[in-house]
Amino acid sequence: MRKLAAGNWKMNGTSEDLDEILTLIAAHPAPKQCEMLICPPATLLARMAEKAAGSALQVGGQDCHAAPSGAHTGDISAEMLRDAGANWVILGHSERRQDHQETDQMIRAKMMTAHDHSLAVILCVGETRAEREAGRALEVVAGQLDRVLTRYRSDSDIGCRAENFAIAYEPVWAIGTGLTASSTEIAEVHSFIRNHISKEFGILGATGRAIRLLYGGSVKPSNAAEIFALPNVDGALVGGASLRASDFGAIVAAL
Ligand code: PGA
Repeated sequence: MRKLAAGNWKMNGTSEDLDEILTLIAAHPAPKQCEMLICPPATLLARMAEKAAGSALQVGGQDCHAAPSGAHTGDISAEMLRDAGANWVILGHSERRQDHQETDQMIRAKMMTAHDHSLAVILCVGETRAEREAGRALEVVAGQLDRVLTRYRSDSDIGCRAENFAIAYEPVWAIGTGLTASSTEIAEVHSFIRNHISKEFGILGATGRAIRLLYGGSVKPSNAAEIFALPNVDGALVGGASLRASDFGAIVAAL
């Protein structure tokens, strides 16, 4: 399985920023070592997908609703993401959990809808600063995985395959703060996730070794190579440093 370099533009970007992806594609027309993905705000998704058509760059959404359609003002369905050209969606980002009170149960429902609509999913998990300081990081991550993946116990479930599912470990205290988890912390949690999903979940048992585990939290060109050299790190989910083609391209090149 190739590694995955995923960018999350969050609530950043207007039309003029679309040129960044043309620069990115020109610099990395066919990266052999990794898949490249950018998740722009929904307003840019269709136009970004048009610009990326025929290139190695994939585009994705930052969230989707659990319902297939209906009376949900302001929300976006999995089908709409597909229609706009997305083939991935980020689910369970800590900013969604905090700003929109998303629970693991809601994230599980969204994940099932996303897979029903052939969207690949990046599931985000991670502990807060207080939880880490209390020595509960692994327990918190295990709880999130267990509650979200509880229905995903066999290979045949809901179209979940190694290639359309990735888990991003994002310690909440490292997101957008400039603080990065240490190599020891990242390696410990990634190895724990790998063992946990292989042990606990059928889908992940057979294909668990192939599921990509991404690290997220202040990944930048200067620390990417060190993080990518760690065992069980199969890519990154990048926020701030995905906004400029030069930074994201340097991270792609480090994979
Ligand atoms: P950051 O964000 O790279 O800006 O820390 C990462 C994320 O939230 O996915």
